[in-house]
Amino acid sequence: MPERTPYLAANWKMHKTSAEAAECVDALLPRIAATRHEVVICPSVRALSEVVERSRGSAVKVAAQNMHEEQSGAFTGEVSAPMLVELDVEAVILGHSERRQYFGETDEALARKVPAALAAGLEPILCVGESEEARDAGRTEAVLEAQLQADLAAVEGPERARVVIAYEPIWAIGTGRTATPEQAQETIAFVRDVLRRSGAAADEVRILYGGSVKPGNATELRGMPDIDGALVGGASLDAEGFARIVNYEESR
Ligand code: PEP
Repeated sequence: MPERTPYLAANWKMHKTSAEAAECVDALLPRIAATRHEVVICPSVRALSEVVERSRGSAVKVAAQNMHEEQSGAFTGEVSAPMLVELDVEAVILGHSERRQYFGETDEALARKVPAALAAGLEPILCVGESEEARDAGRTEAVLEAQLQADLAAVEGPERARVVIAYEPIWAIGTGRTATPEQAQETIAFVRDVLRRSGAAADEVRILYGGSVKPGNATELRGMPDIDGALVGGASLDAEGFARIVNYEESR
C-alpha cells in the first residue's frame, strides 16, 4: 500500500488581516520546522501573498479558500485559478460547507471548479459532509456518494488521486462536537471505497477529517488507518495549538 504523507491544513476562514497572518506564520514556522508532514495554510485572499512570502523555503504550502471556475470574466468579487497561481498559491479549498450553505455553492459549479483547479496545477481540497439531519436519517453514505460523484464527475478516475478530500460533517464544524474517531474512520473508509469504485487509485488519495479538531483530539483521530490528516478551522488560528496538531505524530 502506498505511504500517504499526513496532510494538515489550517482554514483561517475570514480571520486575520495580512499583518495578523504574518505574525501567526512567523510564530508557526519555527514550531514545525522539523515536521515531515505536509502543512497547508489557507488564509483569506487578502493575506495570500503575505503568507506565501513568509513561508517560502519552509514545509508550508499555501491554499486559497475558494476560486471561480472560469479563468477570467465578468464575475465581480471572484478570483480565478491563474490569479492564484500567479501568487504562487499551490492548493485551493473547494466546496467548504460554509460556501455551500451561505454562498450557494452547488455541486454543478464544483464539477467545473475541481478540473479547473487541476488544469491550473492547483491541488484541490474538496470538502464533503452530511448535515445532522442526514446523519440522523441514516443518509450519510448516500449524501457523501452523491457529492463525490457530482463534484468529481469531470475528473477521470486516475486523476482523482490528485484531489485531497476533506470529510467534514457539517454538525461538527465550529460546534465543538467532533465525530468519534470510529465514526470518522468508518465514514472516511466509505469515502475511499466510493473513490475506489470510481476507478481512482484510492489508496493514494489523502482523506482528511475536519470538524472541531483540536490538539486534544488530533492524535486519537490520526490513529485511525484511513484518516490521513485534518482540516482545522478554529484551532488553527493559534500558532502554538496548530503546531501541536501538526506535530502530533512526532511527539507520540
Ligand atoms: C473548517 O473550517 O473546515 C473546520 C473544520 O472548522 P472547525 O475546526 O472550527 O470545526
